[in-house]
Amino acid sequence: MAEFTSKEQQFLSFLHEQNAYKEALTTLQWDSHTQIPRGGVDSRSEVVGILSGKLQEAETSDRMKDFIEEMKATSDNELILQAAAECEQVYDKNRKIPNAEYQEYVTLCSKAEAVWGEARNKDDFSLFEPYLSRIAGYNQEFAERFGYKEHRYDALLDTNEPGITVKTLDEVFPELRKSLTGLIEQVQASPVKADVSLLKTPFPTVQQKALCEAMLKLIGYRMEDGRLDTSAHPYSFAINQNDVRLSTKYVQDDFRASVFSAIHEGGHALYEQNIGKDLAGTPLSAASSMGMHESQSLYWEMFVTADYGFWEKNYDWFRSFAPEHFKSVSLDEFYLALHDVKASLIRIDADPLTYPMHIMMRYEIEKGLLNGDMKAADLPTIWNDLMRDYLGVVPENNEDGVLQDIHWSSGDFGYFPSYTLGYLYAAQLHNTMKKEVPFDECLKTNDFASIRNWFTENVHQYGKTKQPLDLLRDATSEDLNPTYLVEYLTKKYGAIYQF
Ligand code: ZN
Repeated sequence: MAEFTSKEQQFLSFLHEQNAYKEALTTLQWDSHTQIPRGGVDSRSEVVGILSGKLQEAETSDRMKDFIEEMKATSDNELILQAAAECEQVYDKNRKIPNAEYQEYVTLCSKAEAVWGEARNKDDFSLFEPYLSRIAGYNQEFAERFGYKEHRYDALLDTNEPGITVKTLDEVFPELRKSLTGLIEQVQASPVKADVSLLKTPFPTVQQKALCEAMLKLIGYRMEDGRLDTSAHPYSFAINQNDVRLSTKYVQDDFRASVFSAIHEGGHALYEQNIGKDLAGTPLSAASSMGMHESQSLYWEMFVTADYGFWEKNYDWFRSFAPEHFKSVSLDEFYLALHDVKASLIRIDADPLTYPMHIMMRYEIEKGLLNGDMKAADLPTIWNDLMRDYLGVVPENNEDGVLQDIHWSSGDFGYFPSYTLGYLYAAQLHNTMKKEVPFDECLKTNDFASIRNWFTENVHQYGKTKQPLDLLRDATSEDLNPTYLVEYLTKKYGAIYQF
């Protein structure tokens, strides 16, 4: 345990106060997703608004500025210096946007979310268009205030994925797109056809829940330091390292919705549960970036529990939870059905080969809106053109098209690329991990601890003390390299679809 000076202690206590607000807000967020009665919603928004305001006040206070300066000048403790640097980033960013302007923006977004819902129901993009246009305008201005070197969009990328720029994505995405297009064509041309209907049979919720919990325990999620609830949108809520809660959703005749969402959220939770204890209560006790967080959820969902070895070992065990129906479905039929590939309109329903296409076209749109090459009014047409180019399918209405995601109405620009970056990080980390841990052998014996420990050692424990690209380079001795994902998918789908 490091010795702290009394000034350092005061700084840490100040950070713990802010952490208390964060814990309270996350607990309320969990409650809002899983428990709250309808009548509680309005008052809840107000309470969340007040608490968030208090937190932001502290983060941008003169007291914070004084602490940052003093720690930088006097401390030689690594943890204190890193915490001060993190606080300084937040301070600088938040101070760049005047409070009144930020409040206007938050109010605009909360209205926009409601209008987005209405526009979807009426399939009328013109209702949402003026809101989207203003939200994009605000984001252009925020980016100007945050500052950037080359592209305005870089400023927003930096918020979610420090170190990643338009230049990186413009190099990586086209290459990935080309490879995925080739793979999708090969799957489509293959005589092997998946039959998804084999997976669809009434599966009682109690049994699905028991299966979700058993699978979470199997991968090493500490159930005694968490819980699994039900919500419309699966989520993980990291209140602190010893209280990381999950939620999933249940679809009666398709167990995949609950089980793979639970594993996905479980992957997020493994990250949060295994951040270094010394970082607790500081802003460093968080994931390195949105993309690195996503790499961990996708890792357990795609690379572990969607691996043939996993099901070879566990299919009979799975059948002990599942309805009788699965007795007549062979392991190979089951595995093939899990790996159906189909170009479809909706991002959240997309399979691992087509999903990144949805992300890359959204990236093109966000970049276009931010640099002024695209206008909100033209988005329905642009959307449909991009869908045709990327996936060869075109929506018949805007609900299945440009209005399908909530992100833009909430002002979340610069976030979409993190989904695909997470996938690339996961594949690159997997490639290195396999050289150090006998992955296939581990699956034969359900030894997930060895796999998990590798990630804890190389990723989780560092929390926010390393930026994503540094973390990746330290763990894999290489910069971001998209070929690992392409190689992984080619090998996997080639084996399944025989090409
Ligand atoms: Zn996720």
